Parts: sequence; C-alpha cells; structure tokens
Amino acid sequence: MIKGVDVGGSFVKVLWEDGRKEKHFIKDIKHHKEKFIEKLKGIIFSENPSGVGIAVAGFTSKEGKVYHSPNIKVLNGFDFREAFSDIGIPFVVGNDVSLGAFGEWFYDHRDKEVLLLIAVGTGLGSGLVVKGELFTGVCGSALELGHHIIEKDGELCNCGRKGCWEAYCSSYGIEREFKRLSGQELSDHAIAKLAEQGDENALKAIQRFKDYLSLGLMNSVHIFNPDCIVLGGGVIKTFRQFLEDIPERVKEISEDLPASCVEITFSKADEFMGARGALAYAKVNL
Ligand SMILES: [Zn+2]
Repeated sequence: MIKGVDVGGSFVKVLWEDGRKEKHFIKDIKHHKEKFIEKLKGIIFSENPSGVGIAVAGFTSKEGKVYHSPNIKVLNGFDFREAFSDIGIPFVVGNDVSLGAFGEWFYDHRDKEVLLLIAVGTGLGSGLVVKGELFTGVCGSALELGHHIIEKDGELCNCGRKGCWEAYCSSYGIEREFKRLSGQELSDHAIAKLAEQGDENALKAIQRFKDYLSLGLMNSVHIFNPDCIVLGGGVIKTFRQFLEDIPERVKEISEDLPASCVEITFSKADEFMGARGALAYAKVNL
C-alpha cells in the first residue's frame, strides 16, 4: 500500500491509501540532524509501504535533494535519494505545496485545466497543475509566488528580501502588522478571536492582509490565466470567515477576460493537504 508523507517543521503527517492518518511530533529533535533523519526514515518506511510520496517544506529538486528548507534547517542539503536508496522501496519527493496542488487537482478538481493552489501559513507557498501535470520548472523550484515582490522596499520577508507577497500574507505578516497597530504581540489565532469581538486593530490588520492577498491573486490571474485557484493553509483557515468576499474582489480588480474564466475557491483538504498531495503524486508517478 502506498502512503503520502508530509515533512513539516513541527509534525510529520502520514496519509495511507486506505485513509489511515498519523501525526508524529518532531519539533523537539528538529535541530539534531542524526536523530531527525533516523526518525524520519522510520516514519517514511514503517510497515513496508509499496511506495511513498514525500512532501517537504522547502526548495526541493526533482531528484529529491533539499536545497533550502527555512523551517527545517537540518534538511538543508539533504539528499533523500542518496540517503534512502538502499531501502528498496520506491519513493518520489517534492515541495509540499506543489504536491498539495497536485492533490487538490487529483481529489477535488480533476475537471480543471490550470489549477493554482495558494497556501498561506507560516509562509506563502503555491503550486500549479496544468492539464493534470504538476508544473515544477526545470529544477523543481517553480511557483515561489510567495517571493514575488508586491511592494518595492516593502516589509522584510523571511527570505531576506523586502516587499515579498509572503511578507504581507503569512502568519508573521499579519502578526507584525497587528503589533505595529496595537503594540501587542499576539498569534494569528488570537488576532482572529479579537477581530470576532470587533477589535479595531485586529480588523485593520486583517483588512491589510486581504488587500495584499487580493493584489497577489490578481497578479496570479493575469500571469497564469487559471480556471481554478484554490486557497488553503492554516492562515486561510484561521481567517476564513473574513475572506468570503475575496473571490469577488479579485475578479473585480482583474482584467475581464481572465476573470471570466477563473473560479476561486477554498480548499476542502485539512491539515493533511501535503500528505494527501504526496500520496496522489506517488500513486500517479510510481
Ligand atoms: Zn520573500
């Protein structure tokens, strides 16, 4: 039986073909390379799967080498193919949001020709599926839309550049703006709670997030001319009730022709989005 594995900064999530789910806490060892790799190996190959899809947060080549993972630094330079080639179980490796996009297409939107997934969480990731094929670019690093510059000399992004889309549309982006307005350091969840109670600063921070979200989505509509944009990730889920008007807003500010073709929708996948995508990708490619 095939399984999908999503390697994140705090948890490794597993989804088996029969629907069984596992969630392994790994944050406590994520700075200890040997322990981390050993545990990862155990999780990936336990119970002798017939194949595995592995989704990793970070810049990952098509051959399975992680070039840069900002949230799981012990994986920087780690080569899955080299390290696990002797195990004899076939596997595929890819970026978590790219594979997540493949899962969106495979499970929920197989009638769509150009599907773009925008996942907003700690960072902003995206993935593109064109006619059932995952588009990953030449090296596997395409669709880093989170780091397209939306404001020259704007807010500092986790990547070190200024004015990236992610610097505005991410948990840290919204938390930073709320802190600037209120002086308080709160999590995105706490900000959402305050906004529900009508807190002015929380609502202002959310409005700014929405403005930049719409702008980046408009850019995406103009660049890709997709028939489907799926919004997903933890931050989208947290602020979901404030985002109902986003699809309409994006269509309003976009050119009429691409706006007339696109459906903007919210992901039905839960926190296992990456694992689900890795599973789908392994099913098709192994
Ligand atoms: Zn950036």
